[in-house]
Amino acid sequence: MKSGKLIIISSPSGGGKTTIIKRLLERNTELKYSVSATTREPRASETDGKDYFFLTQNRFDEHIRSDDFLEWAVVHGQRYGTLKSQTEACLQNGDYIILDIDVQGGLIVKKKIPGALLIFLMPPSLEILEQRLRTRGTENESALEKRLQIASKEMDAAGQYDYIVFNHEIDQAVGDINAIIHAS
Ligand code: 5GP
Repeated sequence: MKSGKLIIISSPSGGGKTTIIKRLLERNTELKYSVSATTREPRASETDGKDYFFLTQNRFDEHIRSDDFLEWAVVHGQRYGTLKSQTEACLQNGDYIILDIDVQGGLIVKKKIPGALLIFLMPPSLEILEQRLRTRGTENESALEKRLQIASKEMDAAGQYDYIVFNHEIDQAVGDINAIIHAS
C-alpha cells in the first residue's frame, strides 16, 4: 500500500510561505493542504474553513480537552493547531499533505510522527524579511518588532529540520521544495 506523508513547511512570518505553498498545490494537484485552527481574527482576504478554522477561545479549549489536535502552539500571542481530522484520513489514503505550521509545532509533529518531512524556508536575511513584512502591512510596529525577534529564534532552530530551502527567489524555492517532495 502506498504510504502517505506529512510535509511540514515552516518559515518566519513574512517568509513567503503562503505564496510558495499555493504554487506547490497548483503544481501538484494530488497534494492536500491541512487547514489549521486558530484563535486569531481573520484577515480581510481570508475565508473560514479554507485559510483557517477561526475558533473562539472556548471552542479551541474544547478541542484540546477532546485531544483533537495533533499539535498546537501559541504563536504571536494566538493559538494555532493542526486537527488530527485534517491529517489522519490523508495518511490512511496514502496522500501527501502539507502543513504550514511554526517551528514549535513542526518539532512536536516530528517527535510524534518520525516519518514526517520537515522543510524550513529561510528568508535571505532578517533585513529582507523586515522589508517584506512592512510591504505586507498586516502588523503594527510593535507586532512587527515581535515577529522579527521570533523570526530570529526560528531561524536558529532551522538546523533541526530535514531540509533548509533559501527563498531568494520564489520560482527557485518552489522548484527546490518540489524536488524534495518528489524525491521523498
Ligand atoms: P499567520 O497568523 O501569519 O497566518 O500565521 C502565523 C504563524 O502560525 C505562521 O508561522 C504559521 O506557520 C503558524 N501556524 C499556522 N497554523 C499553525 C498550526 O496549526 N500549528 C502551529 N504550530 N503553527 C501554525
